[in-house]
Amino acid sequence: MQTSPTLGFIGLGVMGGPMCLNVVAKHPAPVIAFDLNEVALNEVAEAGARRASSIADLAASADVILLSLPGGKQVEAVCLGEGGIASAGRPGLIVVDLSTTAVAEARAIAARLAEAGIQFVDAPVARTRQAAQAGTLSIMVGAAPDLFAKVEPLLRYMGSDVTHCGGTGGGQVVKLINNALLFEHVAALAEMMVVAERAGVAPATLLEAVSKGSGDSFALRNHGLKAMLPREFPERSFPSEYVLKDLGYAIDLAKSCGVEPKMSTTAQSYYRAAVEAGFGPRYFPSIIELLDRSGS
Ligand code: NAD
Repeated sequence: MQTSPTLGFIGLGVMGGPMCLNVVAKHPAPVIAFDLNEVALNEVAEAGARRASSIADLAASADVILLSLPGGKQVEAVCLGEGGIASAGRPGLIVVDLSTTAVAEARAIAARLAEAGIQFVDAPVARTRQAAQAGTLSIMVGAAPDLFAKVEPLLRYMGSDVTHCGGTGGGQVVKLINNALLFEHVAALAEMMVVAERAGVAPATLLEAVSKGSGDSFALRNHGLKAMLPREFPERSFPSEYVLKDLGYAIDLAKSCGVEPKMSTTAQSYYRAAVEAGFGPRYFPSIIELLDRSGS
């Protein structure tokens, strides 16, 4: 690959918008962007990205295309649908998918793109919108070693931790397991914060004391202290709708490996209830508000 490939960026939402801004600021060659949302596209165009008129327009001029889309369905449509990357991109093109998708979807899309001479890397991201803005995401990558070596410098525009997890789909395996563990942990913590309060101990006291003991965790220090305790669950962060998507992918993955994931399935029931109660777009630790309402 040339040292400064022309980059394309498709999907400029909560994560993709700030990731693209970092790419525009740090990449020494042109960056072309596309999103269905004009407002999001305007923001990166003002920072110096060239606006593409369509996915086909972008795919015709890019050497590497970065995707940050809601999930596997959208990635499949953008890559393999009518006017998509497979039909408009040149052989030798590399697609790097930063979205969280099912492992089977990533592997199937990679195989279909390979028929058009296009290489595919799954590179889902962890951490927050603030980390996307700061360029300090953790990125988990599935690709053959030579392909990983080509894309790693580009991923470092957006991430401070870039881990090569294995061949195609390996990035999604690690990302889905990371997320399932976090969602289960936040559900367990929400239950116990409500228990403590009903048993006469203030949740703030609980978290402070447990943070000094073996029950301490990343979820306690972040989701517990910063969201569940002050009851701050903003929109445009990580919503319960996306939790359901990712947990569904993790449960399918576990089942495909012969494991019945009872912990994930229990956590899924909390987030499903949150979406059904209208909390879908809010930050996912808001499930504690449902537990608060539950019968004592
Ligand atoms: P988002 O919904 O905010 O953004 C998705 C963007 O894709 C939107 O701007 C939408 O207009 C665009 N889009 C959808 N279909 C399109 C198409 N066919 N063509 C062009 N653009 C299209 O989502 P997000 O929160 O930025 O998440 C993106 C991915 O990152 C998801 O897979 C999510 O699971 C993952 N993720 C999110 C977070 C988070 O905190 N929000 C953290 C880590 C990973």
